[in-house]
Amino acid sequence: MMVGAAGRILIIGRIVDVHHFMIELLSLPAFTDNYIWMVHNGHEAVVVDPGDAEVVQRALRARKLSLSAILVTHHHPDHTGGVQDLRDVLLGQVYAPARERTPEPHVAVQEGMTLQLLGQTIRVWDVPGHTLGHIAFLMEPEGQDPILFCGDTLFSGGCGRLFEGTPAQMHASLTTLAQLPGRTRVCCAHEYTVANLRFASLVEPHNPALQAYQSRCAELRQRGQPTLPSTIATERRINPFLRCQEPEVRTSARAQGATGDDPVAVLAALRAWKNRA
Ligand code: ZN
Ligand code: FE
Repeated sequence: MMVGAAGRILIIGRIVDVHHFMIELLSLPAFTDNYIWMVHNGHEAVVVDPGDAEVVQRALRARKLSLSAILVTHHHPDHTGGVQDLRDVLLGQVYAPARERTPEPHVAVQEGMTLQLLGQTIRVWDVPGHTLGHIAFLMEPEGQDPILFCGDTLFSGGCGRLFEGTPAQMHASLTTLAQLPGRTRVCCAHEYTVANLRFASLVEPHNPALQAYQSRCAELRQRGQPTLPSTIATERRINPFLRCQEPEVRTSARAQGATGDDPVAVLAALRAWKNRA
């Protein structure tokens, strides 16, 4: 048995297309800086936070895929705006946060629940902070790195604004996500990386991993390519909001008004500083 360049396994004259058993991850750019994430198995697709239906329709047509489910992380319109228009082609359900108002009908989901989609198990996490009912989805395809859809909670090099939640909630949510396996692919809903890293380097001017990542991401953007997905391992090294215990992060946060070295106080100061920066 051998695997050819075209991704086919030749078993004594019989050709099996292995792509049909693999999950492919795609980022579909939408609006100015959103990504609608799509996972598919060659036949069926699942999309996350479809703010724009047309972007999804085009991707489905181009790849001759059917739409088996929609996942929604939180109620903001740039994540839900395309849901109603996609119902015509949707074969399955819309899964949306139990604690938020999003387009009806949908299946309300929350932490501890698992979904079976594309032959895969998807776990749901509560990650409040950006909004109060914000959820994240984790897919762990067999033989492939896990995939995290974290909406506007965790960004590469940053985190979402605290529109509804508290610094303590965001800190708890980010801590949960940071504990996922390092090779987990981090699928954020916005291409904010370059601006986030500019801020991160103010917080940690002496972090060499951050400097290296910053130049790599700048290069990717110059070529018009996404900086995402990131990985949990990368975020642990470069994202100041996951590094509230680091001495340099604490010192910078104190200089910007953090009331102590408590990680929640540090995160609160960083978030307020980022809003001003
Ligand atoms: Zn949002
Ligand atoms: Fe958003």
